[in-house]
Amino acid sequence: EALRGPEGVAVLAGSVAPAGAEPVAMAYAGHQFGGYAPRLGDGRALLLGEVHDREGRRRDVHLKGSGRTPFARGGDGKAALGPMLREYVVSEAMHALGCPTTRSLAVVSTGERIARDTGMLPGAVLTRVAASHLRVGTFQYAAALGDRALLRRLADHAIARHHPDAAEADSPPLALLERVAAVQADLVARWMLVGFVHGVMNTDNMTISGETIDYGPCAFMDAYDPATVFSSIDHGGRYAYGNQPGIAQWNLARLAEALLPLLVGDEPTEGEVDDAVARLTTVLEAFPARYEQAWGHGMQAKLGLSSPDDDLVSDLLALLEEQAVDWTTWFRALARDLRGDRDAARGLVPDIAAADAWLARWRAHQPDADAMDAVNPIYVPRNHLVEEALAAATAGDEAPVHELVAVLARPFDERPGLDRYAAPGPTDGPRYRTFCGT
Ligand code: AMP
Ligand code: MG
Repeated sequence: EALRGPEGVAVLAGSVAPAGAEPVAMAYAGHQFGGYAPRLGDGRALLLGEVHDREGRRRDVHLKGSGRTPFARGGDGKAALGPMLREYVVSEAMHALGCPTTRSLAVVSTGERIARDTGMLPGAVLTRVAASHLRVGTFQYAAALGDRALLRRLADHAIARHHPDAAEADSPPLALLERVAAVQADLVARWMLVGFVHGVMNTDNMTISGETIDYGPCAFMDAYDPATVFSSIDHGGRYAYGNQPGIAQWNLARLAEALLPLLVGDEPTEGEVDDAVARLTTVLEAFPARYEQAWGHGMQAKLGLSSPDDDLVSDLLALLEEQAVDWTTWFRALARDLRGDRDAARGLVPDIAAADAWLARWRAHQPDADAMDAVNPIYVPRNHLVEEALAAATAGDEAPVHELVAVLARPFDERPGLDRYAAPGPTDGPRYRTFCGT
């Protein structure tokens, strides 16, 4: 209620700092599409401060689109309503889907019109709530300053805040890398299981906490295809759906490089450096297996299998790709198949004989339909629905956004009258494109 009042809205719009707060723009570096940018930072965002949530956990409260900062470079520091609502809708959906993520508390229209390539757009400020805003790029920035004491303070802070058990390890910085690798393996597996394409996995957009951050050109995959890319600037497909685990590992290697000075003494010998590199590399090399394990468990649950069956999974992926089957629809259809609707799943596959052969092998596992429905969403932020809701809001009608948020808040819970939200988007027409919103 307080936040809805005039004083609360003034804070959420970025026009007044909350009492006692000293807002800061955070510095960070980062690899963008593989190229190193030494100084990025919050160019249009501010960390208002930290609060404790109801469970006593620290939360960053952060404004995006609140105006220029010393990191704004050529930018206007502003954000358009559409992209901020997009972050709101998709991050809240991700939370409901069980993917760790920053949350969205509010989007406030500023009443300003801001200039973008597509014309003048309504401006807005998003309030983002996060476990923290520490990124791989934060460590890259600190490491590049060459100040080991500062880097150590950052590592100690990150450990205390997110991975406290690493403090007990023989080498806390090495343990920090290990913990970040673990949470990122789990996170990216969850993305892959729900068909999420982040779209801009630059090292400044990867958190130390293991939360999804920065909903720019993200989108959900329709038909299963590892090469799925939506971002208008991702020409090489670097951040395609199927590349995400490999990119996560690449980003972790950048974190390992940043942490290296903390694994050696002030004036290390070559041998000391080699030894530190070897230890960091061992952690990095364990990432694919960690990821595969998280993904494998997830797929086993999606298919309702009581024991792993790798061949069944890989044959399914080949079938879905070859037959261009909608990812989300398929897994819900499987549960319907078990309940006796024998056309639900096979009807989605043009090559019915191939579908039948796979389905027979799968049914032999005697999967549990209800258990499957608890992990396979029926409602995800489908691209056409998100686009439609944002267009309405930009034109002044907020109702479709509120409705979409309400549907996506219970993604596993099929409700009457919501068929439209479960249906795949049109497959004809131009390929869906997303933009960074900057
Ligand atoms: P992003 O693509 O949102 O991860 O942002 C990459 C970098 O560009 C970050 O340093 C942002 O703060 C900065 N940036 C994006 N949009 C703007 C803007 N309108 N004004 C100033 N800085 C921006
Ligand atoms: Mg970013």
